Amino acid sequence: MGIISNRLNQLTESATLAMAQKSRELRDQGIDVINLSIGEPDFDTPEFIKNAAKQALDENYTHYPPVPGYLELRESIVKKLRRDNNLEYQINQIVVSTGAKQAISNVFYSILNPGEEVIIPAPFWVSYADMVQLAEGVPVVISTTIENNFKVTPQQIIAAITPKTKALIFSSPCNPTGTVYSKAELREIAMALKDFPHITIVSDEIYELINFNGGHESIAQFEDIKNQVVIVNGVSKGFAMTGFRLGYIAAPKAIADACTKFQGQTTSGTNTIAQRAAMAALQADPKDNQDIQLMVNAFKERRDLLISLIEQIPGFQLNTPPGAFYLFPNITSFFGKTDGKTIIRNSPDLVVFILEKANVALVDGEAFGDPNCLRLSYATSKEMLVEAANRIKDACSLLH
Ligand code: PMP
Ligand code: GLU
Repeated sequence: MGIISNRLNQLTESATLAMAQKSRELRDQGIDVINLSIGEPDFDTPEFIKNAAKQALDENYTHYPPVPGYLELRESIVKKLRRDNNLEYQINQIVVSTGAKQAISNVFYSILNPGEEVIIPAPFWVSYADMVQLAEGVPVVISTTIENNFKVTPQQIIAAITPKTKALIFSSPCNPTGTVYSKAELREIAMALKDFPHITIVSDEIYELINFNGGHESIAQFEDIKNQVVIVNGVSKGFAMTGFRLGYIAAPKAIADACTKFQGQTTSGTNTIAQRAAMAALQADPKDNQDIQLMVNAFKERRDLLISLIEQIPGFQLNTPPGAFYLFPNITSFFGKTDGKTIIRNSPDLVVFILEKANVALVDGEAFGDPNCLRLSYATSKEMLVEAANRIKDACSLLH
């Protein structure tokens, strides 16, 4: 009998975190690695948010908080959903967690019985499928292609539904593709799912603010299905607060209650300083907040720059993603090529080749359910992006 459980032995390591760790290690060895692997803003947390965190400490917000989050924070989330998304929620439908990551995991533990299925359109964020499996559910992956801007159709979703289907999870803006569904496309998906009221739609909206084509659309806006939707959001991306570890859900009350019960037996309420800082962040209206505008504009400029650079490298097939801070090119034209020593058979091979030859860290597409692609994060400075693209170009020119 092994010490570690089968459940954990079957769990794969998060590829994004593994790649970030690998580039830290190489840097510690003195190797000049450019890290385009992890999806995290390089900006510092805005001053007004840091001040709220400092004040929280001075005001002794250092005791156990309520399990689903401080009342005032949940009130601010309700107001944010009204102000930014035109959505009405009650405070008891909001649960604050240690990152959107925990929020999503709580939901799966709360709704899945063993063997129940979760539909996951690919490319998907690395942790969805593993979280489903940890909760003894079964991921059912449906594929999309770059030609269709990685969008899933309502027909594909319907075709994947079985008597065991319990949920659908997707992100818009999407990690890893940057895809953003339009209101009309979300309506079609909503209309397809309204005939299946037992299916929960987990709508991961953590990249809400990083959208270059205009306002954010949530699938929860369609009244027919609103009581099937769990909105997941957080402060990591839009407010450059990854280390604070704070996310939340807005959910049907039964699911919010279940997540609170689960969290009460696992981690309790989220860190108090982070809660007070998140409150300041969410009370700011992003439409007239300069710190946020500055970051979003910078991401757009970087996207355009990186596209113009990567387009010049033969073999990378790109689209123009309207949101998040990733490019997800198709790189199948490298498969079968070699530099005389290494043969590139798949996306992980190319990512390792680029890490070794160019010292640029990327994440392979397999981790996101699409073995034909790889992910570049452009949440770093323009100088770094130019240098990284030059290095990738030189390394890839060795492959014939
Ligand atoms: N969902 C998506 C799509 C993400 O990219 C991330 C980033 N790690 C998360 C959820 C989790 O975010 P966090 O736990 O930092 O709030
Ligand atoms: N969401 C980020 C990414 O995809 C952060 C890493 C993680 O939590 O997986 O790179």
